[in-house]
Amino acid sequence: MVRPNLLKSYNSKIRTNGPLDDLIENFGGTIFHNSYTPAPDTPRSLACLHSGLYPERNGCNTRIKWPYYYFKEKNSLLESLVEKDFHVSFYATKNKTNVGPIPKGAKQKINIYNCLFEFEKNVNKDLKNQENSAYFLTLDDYHWGNDDYGHNSLGDYYGQLHLKNYIESFFNNNNQDKFDYVFWFSDHGHKLYSETKNTNINSLLNDDRSKIHLLVRKKGQNQLSHDYKLRCVFDIYPTVLNIINKTIDVELDGVDLYGENGHDYIVFEDHSDFSVSMAQIINCWAVRTNDKFYFESLKSKELYDVVGINKYKKKNKIQDELLYTNLIRRHTSSYDETTKQFAVLEFYKELRADNEDLRFSDNSRRFFKNRNFILKIITYILKDLKKRW
Ligand SMILES: [Zn+2]
Repeated sequence: MVRPNLLKSYNSKIRTNGPLDDLIENFGGTIFHNSYTPAPDTPRSLACLHSGLYPERNGCNTRIKWPYYYFKEKNSLLESLVEKDFHVSFYATKNKTNVGPIPKGAKQKINIYNCLFEFEKNVNKDLKNQENSAYFLTLDDYHWGNDDYGHNSLGDYYGQLHLKNYIESFFNNNNQDKFDYVFWFSDHGHKLYSETKNTNINSLLNDDRSKIHLLVRKKGQNQLSHDYKLRCVFDIYPTVLNIINKTIDVELDGVDLYGENGHDYIVFEDHSDFSVSMAQIINCWAVRTNDKFYFESLKSKELYDVVGINKYKKKNKIQDELLYTNLIRRHTSSYDETTKQFAVLEFYKELRADNEDLRFSDNSRRFFKNRNFILKIITYILKDLKKRW
């Protein structure tokens, strides 16, 4: 849940280093300054990571559709590693593994640890034996910091500090250069409380929630280099596939992070109410290109020039609206589905408005209006009488 625009490493407007900036500066590797998730919550973002695909294609396309229950691809990141004879270990807290962050097929083939000590012991053992191994370490510490202190600057500070302490201690025990590659990323960002009050709905999909931290370190890469192309959480899978020299027969939405080209655009979709509950409806969408941000909800459409970090300049006129909506259509089914339902709902409104004045077939007025009026007068008189008594 680490949010890049709260880090100096990503946001030059921030004057002093936070706890994670110290770590990032000395970590080495490539920092990807413009990486996004198409769906800013844990289940959907993880499914994008596991599949290399947009939510619509991987089956995890609403708020509580966790990969274990809804992932519909037969290939996944972890399974591909297993198929290449990698020894795969996964760590997450027990309650996190219970909700289903790992696709069903993969879960049966990997070692799952709920105890950090055991996980680290396993890492150490494998590293000594030089086995082909892959480790997936889920750290919720930043989230916990925010739970403890609130979604404010204090929560952000302590969240970063907890995370830094753990990551530092892990790599003190296991030198970075023991690993051929380290992928360090967050699944999505978040909003501070102060930002959720009276905010424009479009800000739900701006960089605060949709941008992710992504840093990839190749063995021996001690200097930090910078990449500014449009990247996505679903690019990690194809990158790993190229590293392990494996092909799959699915055309992925993601592209290799080491490839020449980034994306021309990323499509986002989300719920305006992002609380954890059943049958959530996706009702906002956005498209991010290098220099534009298009946002659409059921009631608004907006186009912005992205002129700097956290700086969007609204355009008076939306050029190429169809271009954006076509991209949204191509990568989501929620857009057509929800906008159709909304259009029908609008007809209901007209129907209701008509009903107010509905007449009988002989064209005489229906009683509704008059009856309501008479009832109001009677209630008023009764209240008035009560007061007088
Ligand atoms: Zn998350």
